[in-house]
Amino acid sequence: MVDRVINRSSNRISYPYAGKDHTGVDLLFSSNEEENKVFAHSSGIVVAVVNKYNRMIGSTGMLSYGNYVDIDHENGYKSRYAHLKKNSVCVSIGQSVTSDTQIAIIGNSGNTVGPTGRHLHFEIFKNNQRIDPSHT
Ligand SMILES: [Zn+2]
Repeated sequence: MVDRVINRSSNRISYPYAGKDHTGVDLLFSSNEEENKVFAHSSGIVVAVVNKYNRMIGSTGMLSYGNYVDIDHENGYKSRYAHLKKNSVCVSIGQSVTSDTQIAIIGNSGNTVGPTGRHLHFEIFKNNQRIDPSHT
């Protein structure tokens, strides 16, 4: 149910989870601006916010995520939303969110590939291990 993080009626995974080779799922940018709003997967507390980066092709490690938000769902699960548009993050650390809370807009910050690079890279951690988000 990864669609819940973007306001769409259909699933648009452009690149699936592939274990350590791809630690989340990619969701396509849309020509419809409304569909590029990113929402919290479910209720939780914001535990990380990075909001200052541009596209950085070839970057590695945490920089490769570009701008991202982490949400702790307080049940052993955490979600991460990456490559967010610079200065679009509209939540702050410690904030309580629900699935109705917009957190940012899809962008291409960090290490993104393709002509525009714009997509959402979405990850789910269970007990600090990444799992396939398409099952959550
Ligand atoms: Zn990705």
